[in-house]
Amino acid sequence: MQHINKTVFINYVSCPTLGWMTKRDMLPKPTGLSNEFLYLEWKNVRKMSWQLFPDAVNVKKTINNMDSLSFKKLIQDSDIETICDAQFTGDGYSTRVDILQRLKLEDNSWHLFGVKSGSRYKAKYIRDIAFSVMVLTKSGINVHKTTILYLSNDYRLGMDASKLFTKIDCTEKVELKMQEFLALSNKAFKDIESKNMPEPCIKTNCKNCPTFDICIGKGIKNHIFDLPRLSKLATEKLIALGVHTIDKIPDDFEFTQMQTVAKNCVLTNTPYVSDNLKIALANIEQPFYYLDFESVTTVMPLYPEIAPHTQLLTQFSLDKADSFGNILDHYEYIADQTKDCRREIAEKLIKYLGESGSIITYANAESIAILKLADLFSDLSEKLDKIAERIVDLELIIRKNYYDINFHGRTSIKKVLPVLISELSYANLKIDKGGDASAAFAFMAMGLYDEKKVEETKRNLLKYCAQDTLAMVHIHQFLINIANNNTNNDTTIVEENYK
Ligand code: SF4
Repeated sequence: MQHINKTVFINYVSCPTLGWMTKRDMLPKPTGLSNEFLYLEWKNVRKMSWQLFPDAVNVKKTINNMDSLSFKKLIQDSDIETICDAQFTGDGYSTRVDILQRLKLEDNSWHLFGVKSGSRYKAKYIRDIAFSVMVLTKSGINVHKTTILYLSNDYRLGMDASKLFTKIDCTEKVELKMQEFLALSNKAFKDIESKNMPEPCIKTNCKNCPTFDICIGKGIKNHIFDLPRLSKLATEKLIALGVHTIDKIPDDFEFTQMQTVAKNCVLTNTPYVSDNLKIALANIEQPFYYLDFESVTTVMPLYPEIAPHTQLLTQFSLDKADSFGNILDHYEYIADQTKDCRREIAEKLIKYLGESGSIITYANAESIAILKLADLFSDLSEKLDKIAERIVDLELIIRKNYYDINFHGRTSIKKVLPVLISELSYANLKIDKGGDASAAFAFMAMGLYDEKKVEETKRNLLKYCAQDTLAMVHIHQFLINIANNNTNNDTTIVEENYK
């Protein structure tokens, strides 16, 4: 029998059904480059933390040759002060602890260090460490003190490990949470190991649960979670009323305008087009520039003078059209992965974006990034600020003026595109998600790809980013057709200059 690990237990605490499913590997497996990269970063941060304890015995390295008796001896050997990466089990639970240091106290107690790769303290850290302390307690280890090590914003590339971490004593908070977990642990063990799945019970958490489609949401069309931006309070009220689908929501239930729109779309099975759509689109000035950025964010800085978790622009795609759907030029840029290229990106944007015409983006990430570039390069700030003023957010126009029940309450480009322009898809791209694009760039920047792989990756990244701008051109054209009551929705795009 496999022991119950932290993920299973923490999921059980949030929902017993979820804990039971997690134990049986029923959750979708995380895949893709972004997942691989996350794991690599986590490993790197842990390794750096062990450098703070140079005399520590790394148990993971030696455990293969170690039986449980030898491991016990290791713990009892008072000459060994610190151990890292050690696995403990007790009462059917298991945990792998980052660093455990012997305290010089008479009660033979220990100091547990939990390593986290965030650069801000988060409440969930307490929960994670409390689970480890619970298992340590069950396995006979007395933990007297607990400390969280998370990343310092002052760390820069090349500094040693002592500058990477901020320490925070969390003994009291962990002890409280640990007692709570300990009191629950016997019942949790029984429920999780039971042959019968705990009965699912709908709650607000279900909305973002990875098993929603095979659990509470199975076979349900137009679930209340498909309403756009439904608040936690409104969700709780609907659940308390026993309402699970949009069509059953009482007429007098208080909604935002777009939630009412979504409900009417379900009842009439017709998309919604606002009277203001034409006006919103008329404010977009020619020539049209469709702009999309990609960026990389890493825990460990890739370049000098960059703090952990800094988001760095790495590429852009830009389509210029003189009229609806008539692309005149396509520009694209991808950074040299060996250096920080933000200045070059800022200069190229100024050059390509000219001084007139609307800059169409999807959501506000590009606007925020351009304002950050303006802050960073004061000599370019005037021009960059003017560029930011010309930005029109196509997602905002959709969010206020158009709704289709197949959006399922969301308006991201990945949700909207297959509904509006089904023939344009990301399916045939080697890189088809923002997270994977970021990870691919990080792998190149870390020198983990050879020259051939770098070339291939850059080609795939350029294709991915170009797909986003092409999608925007088509969505813009679709909206124009709808606003002009052109029901055939011809979104043919002239792409002569599209390389
Ligand atoms: S969908 Fe809801 S009830 Fe089902 S496992 Fe997830 S959180 Fe639990």
